Amino acid sequence: MELFQKPAHQLADMLRKKEVSSTELTKAVLERIRQVDDRVHAYITVTEDLALQMAAEADKRLQSGDAKALTGIPVGLKDIFLAKGTRTTCASKMLDNFTAPYDATVVARLREAGAVFTGKLNMDEFAMGSSTENSAYGVTRNPWDLERIPGGSSGGSSAAVAAGEATMTLGTDTGGSIRQPASLTSTVGLKPTYGRVSRYGVIAFASSLDQVGPITQDVEDAALLLETIAGRDPRDSTSAERAVPDYRADMKKGVKGLKIGIPKEYFVEGMDPQIEAAVRKAIDDLKAQGAEVVEVSLPHTKYAVSTYYIVAPAEASSNLARYDGVRFGHRAANPENLLDLYMRSRGEGFGPEVKRRIMVGTYALSSGYYDAYYLKAQQARTLIRADFDKAFEQVDVILTPTTPGPAFKLGEKTDDPLQMYLSDIFTIACNLAGIPGMSLPCGFTDDKLPIGMQLLGKAWDEATLFRVGWAYEQSQNWHQMRAAL
Ligand code: GLN
Repeated sequence: MELFQKPAHQLADMLRKKEVSSTELTKAVLERIRQVDDRVHAYITVTEDLALQMAAEADKRLQSGDAKALTGIPVGLKDIFLAKGTRTTCASKMLDNFTAPYDATVVARLREAGAVFTGKLNMDEFAMGSSTENSAYGVTRNPWDLERIPGGSSGGSSAAVAAGEATMTLGTDTGGSIRQPASLTSTVGLKPTYGRVSRYGVIAFASSLDQVGPITQDVEDAALLLETIAGRDPRDSTSAERAVPDYRADMKKGVKGLKIGIPKEYFVEGMDPQIEAAVRKAIDDLKAQGAEVVEVSLPHTKYAVSTYYIVAPAEASSNLARYDGVRFGHRAANPENLLDLYMRSRGEGFGPEVKRRIMVGTYALSSGYYDAYYLKAQQARTLIRADFDKAFEQVDVILTPTTPGPAFKLGEKTDDPLQMYLSDIFTIACNLAGIPGMSLPCGFTDDKLPIGMQLLGKAWDEATLFRVGWAYEQSQNWHQMRAAL
């Protein structure tokens, strides 16, 4: 395998043994970006000079012996994270000229660990979407089939890992935006428990749902990256005061005796038979390794999509009120008065999907409709969460498909927002309940399109997801397959 295709845990060993330098590795990744990114378009901004400078610093640190696990590893950032001095657009015209004045906490932690930043990755505008087609900077293509979408909203992050344009990347997940793109690109994506990772310096979409997490080539890398970014941050009051376990220590214990729940509501009529077959095969493989498989029920999951499409737009309409053309972001030229400044700045700066969400959210929160929509949605959210509490009394982890189908064609769902929203049908309940969820590769369709399965865990129990995910991965070679580009 080429340097740009190797997972970080292997590269870290090579760096420590001086078989390769971070500068060599970084140059290999930058060269790969030059070769394939005009086809894939994973990046909005490539920070080549910064990367080489960080690599040189990492090499010094590796020489001096105080290297951490990610020192010298090329990491790509979704363009939703503030990285001091670097352009940060959130894939919106609204922030076209915005340079971040400070680091997000996750970015600062990666800097301290000695990671190398390759650049800022494409996404759906303000993380609203499932295909990366809502970006103001053009679409990203799936490295496994360039006619297809890489998932969204973290589609630049998933495509970059699948194409070897970064060793690992960070994404965000509000309703599936890490797990769905991971599933469609044969990568590993983890949404941590709400509160596990700081949201400081992450451009807000829906604050009660947003979490930051890794997209990587394998389960061990996801553990490595989560360990680096997780933990209490005084600048985010929703980040939890909880010790972050050494995930890699417990990861290799095997699944013998673990109880895996299969929710009957996630194997719905009309789902893609190839996806169902791959996921059922994975369940059998885990059983063969000694896991016990139990059927569970999550009866309120059927309300998850409709609940989410009230809660998330409501929070978004409030979060996005700050883009008013006054303090930062796009400002309309020659306004006639203050109202005209607000209206035209927002009208010109936001794309159509963002406008749709702001309108839906504002409507749902308006007096007279609040009780009928927002309050109802919060009640449904409580029921969805209670379903999981009950299921986790019986099982250690829940296994489902990540998506109802494989990557769709570019343009296939852009005219039908409801169809687009339904591609998150299996990922959304996890965010509403605040629990951790991971997607990992479990096969390919006859057309060689990646299939992913999802593991859902108890709150704060990412460790069991790594353990089950790693055990499954060892029995397969999906994670070693690479897209031919
Ligand atoms: N696709 C979902 C949406 O458009 C989820 C997005 C996300 O997780 N950021 O809202």
